[in-house]
Amino acid sequence: MTTVEPSPGLAQPHRLAWQEARVEAIHAETPEVKSFVLRPQSWSGFTAGQHVDIRLTAPDGYQAQRSYSIASAPDDSGTIELAIEALPDGEVSPFFHDVVEVGDTIELRGPIGGHFIWNAPLGGPLLLVGGGSGLVPLMSILRHRASVAPEVPATLVYSARRYDDLIFRDELFRRRDADAHFRLEVALTREQARDGLHFGRIDAALMARAIGTETPKLTYICGSNPFVEAAASLALAAGLPFGSIRTERYGG
Ligand SMILES: Cc1cc2nc3c(=O)[nH]c(=O)nc-3n(C[C@H](O)[C@H](O)[C@H](O)COP(=O)(O)OP(=O)(O)OC[C@H]3O[C@@H](n4cnc5c(N)ncnc54)[C@H](O)[C@@H]3O)c2cc1C
Repeated sequence: MTTVEPSPGLAQPHRLAWQEARVEAIHAETPEVKSFVLRPQSWSGFTAGQHVDIRLTAPDGYQAQRSYSIASAPDDSGTIELAIEALPDGEVSPFFHDVVEVGDTIELRGPIGGHFIWNAPLGGPLLLVGGGSGLVPLMSILRHRASVAPEVPATLVYSARRYDDLIFRDELFRRRDADAHFRLEVALTREQARDGLHFGRIDAALMARAIGTETPKLTYICGSNPFVEAAASLALAAGLPFGSIRTERYGG
């Protein structure tokens, strides 16, 4: 196990050790996204919305490091679930899709992140806005809310290219149908609407519908840089206070 050394002169509030995690299960979620259930060697829990860093080391010593949000809800299983989208010509995500198998060990450190998090004391109503794989930390928040505070109203606005690209689709629709306090608004950008789903990008009308009559106490927006910019602008234009909006950017 290696410990990350702090940069000279930089204050380090705490240091997270790299550790090995065993891959316990792999599921195809969409044509481009697989979920990975990992069991870190030493794990003392996390808060919904946090992420881990993953580090790959090539035989010649070259290392690549990326961040991945945790999709599962905090529980005492000792495992975490990641959902990783394979990006064309990417370095790390195709490795997960094409090389990683059940039984492998992966280096990770975490949990990381203290702002884009939710737990029951923070309360609601919640507005969650995700684009593509930006759904992942919102899924952790939704799953956690369902188990610890199902009375907290939550609305998820989820934008994906096509119906088949909706990560955790069956679970999301199941939760929508079973949970009177959970609303789901899906926007498909590259496929005509079906079954009440919105066609096109998230716009002012969809944002207004998502906000509804109960102003969210907290809004979480996650996705690529352009997605987060657009969604945060819409949320502000709809009158949500700046301080109530939390964002997480995946780059791109
Ligand atoms: C906090 C956080 C949480 C995240 N959580 C998730 C998550 O839950 N799921 C998820 O799928 N992702 C997540 N990400 C994104 C993830 O960290 C990676 O950025 C993503 O998987 C791409 O990594 P990669 O190594 O496959 O691609 P990279 O090698 O980083 O390449 C990214 C893209 O850039 C292009 N590219 C690469 N090099 C060049 C170049 N020289 N010129 C032009 N284009 C180039 C590639 O084609 C590719 O499409 C998260 C990011 C952050 C910051």
